[in-house]
Amino acid sequence: MKKKDIQTGLEKEIRKRAKWDFFYICVIALLLSYISVITKVDLFEQLYFFSRQHEHWEMDEITLIVLWCGLGGIFYAYRRVQDLRALLQEVSGKAFFDQVSQLPNRVYSLECLTQMLHQAERLRFRAAVIFIDLDNFKMVNDTYGHAKGDLLLQMFGERLRHSVRKGDIVGRLGGDEYLVLLELTDENELAPVLERIRSIQDEPYRLDENDLIFRFSAGIAIYPDDGETATDLLKASDIAMYHSKVTRTGQIERYTDHMTETLYARYQLESDLKLALQNKNFYMEYQPQLSLKNEQIVGYEALIRWELRGKQVPTTQLIQIAEDTGHIEEIGLWALYQALEDAQSFLQANQRLAVNITSRHFWKSDFVYQIERALSFYEFPPHQLVLELTESALVSDIFDDIRQKVTALRELGILVAIDDFGIGYSCLGRLKDLPINCLKIDQTFTHALVNSERDWYVISTLVNMAKHLNFLIMAEGVESKEQLDLLHQIGCHMAQGYYIGQPATLTHLVAQTSSL
Ligand code: C2E
Ligand code: MG
Ligand code: MG
Repeated sequence: MKKKDIQTGLEKEIRKRAKWDFFYICVIALLLSYISVITKVDLFEQLYFFSRQHEHWEMDEITLIVLWCGLGGIFYAYRRVQDLRALLQEVSGKAFFDQVSQLPNRVYSLECLTQMLHQAERLRFRAAVIFIDLDNFKMVNDTYGHAKGDLLLQMFGERLRHSVRKGDIVGRLGGDEYLVLLELTDENELAPVLERIRSIQDEPYRLDENDLIFRFSAGIAIYPDDGETATDLLKASDIAMYHSKVTRTGQIERYTDHMTETLYARYQLESDLKLALQNKNFYMEYQPQLSLKNEQIVGYEALIRWELRGKQVPTTQLIQIAEDTGHIEEIGLWALYQALEDAQSFLQANQRLAVNITSRHFWKSDFVYQIERALSFYEFPPHQLVLELTESALVSDIFDDIRQKVTALRELGILVAIDDFGIGYSCLGRLKDLPINCLKIDQTFTHALVNSERDWYVISTLVNMAKHLNFLIMAEGVESKEQLDLLHQIGCHMAQGYYIGQPATLTHLVAQTSSL
């Protein structure tokens, strides 16, 4: 769709008026000629007599001036009309096209959708509406600045435009949301287009000498199955997009009615979370960590809990909603302060308190300062605090910034562990450049350990490699004696899991400690 194809209502009105003006002038000229013929007034004769009577007026020159003025007037009017046209085009461009991506904006995209649906109804073809929302776009703005953020939006829009067929419409709804409209005269064409759109994510973007992989969530709704009006289809594709964001499938999700129910349940949970945040309706549990060398409890991992209407909300779900709704920093800080406070009642001087930190929280510019403040608030010894970061916290293009943060934490005496190691994307090569203390091997590896000799070999190689890089190794999710024995054999330093101890409340722990 090009700018020149667009006509605003005002432009149409002006064109219509110009046509009528031309018509009126012709009518008036014809009328005057008719009157002069009827009344036998010979205009040229009259003009001739007039000029003879006023010969001293230099009539030739006057006529010439009048002629030049007429020609000048025509030229001037022509130029102004051209200016007006350019102005109208610019105004309509701004009103209908997004200035960053040069794609149709929200108003125009929705107009296109309405027109496409009219045609689809008349010519009986199907149509698809794809709603796309970039993931973590705010982080790009925060990290690289708004100019680079705009550049990324522009590059993304460009890629999107190249991934669709000629005649398909790609628009930017605003912020980090895009809309793709496809006419489906041939249903077989849909799958390749969807695959091309999906694969946009595989190619990195170059920003500030960094290659940035950028993901999006997308949902698709099809006319007439999922809705017959522009509003319904937009809503359905938005819900499907939201579903894709929450489930993180990385696919373009097709709308189903079931998604609406899930969405309402999720909305409910989000508003419950806001209330819970206000009333601080959370509590912490602590799971012991065992040293395999001396069979002593060397620390506890703090795990947040949320009980809602008598039922426990799964912690992974709580963390994800908190991340999606932007409350993760608040919740993370609450958990940190609560854990530090609770630890005063049960943690011994030779034990450590491990606190989980999400990537988003870790990436905050004042993260190290926040931790320092919390420690000094409780006068908690830094060497007794372990911060558990996930691998994803390190998989970022701001690696220097990450290194600085980890180094600053280490200089304060705080220990840093990598949680759920092995299931993320980071590699030992990258980790060896960071002053990390401990790798916590994900529980899927611990569980696989007993399954086959091959799994055992893979895990023991991983452990050996990490040991050579001077990392302590802790296995997560130990559920049986068999697993614990194998971990011993491999040379793992520490272990955590239900077999060693279930996560327990503060009251339970205090009672346990005082009975010893
Ligand atoms: P994580 O840090 O890897 O924590 C270990 C999870 O495994 C916990 O799940 C724990 O209850 C569970 N677990 C422990 N032993 C076993 C076992 O033997 N078998 C099995 N199947 N599971 C075991 P939980 O409490 O549901 O927490 C899930 C995740 O939520 C945590 O994984 C952590 O990433 C996050 N999380 C928990 N508490 C916090 C918190 O206070 N702040 C932040 N930012 N994240 C938290
Ligand atoms: Mg953890
Ligand atoms: Mg873990």
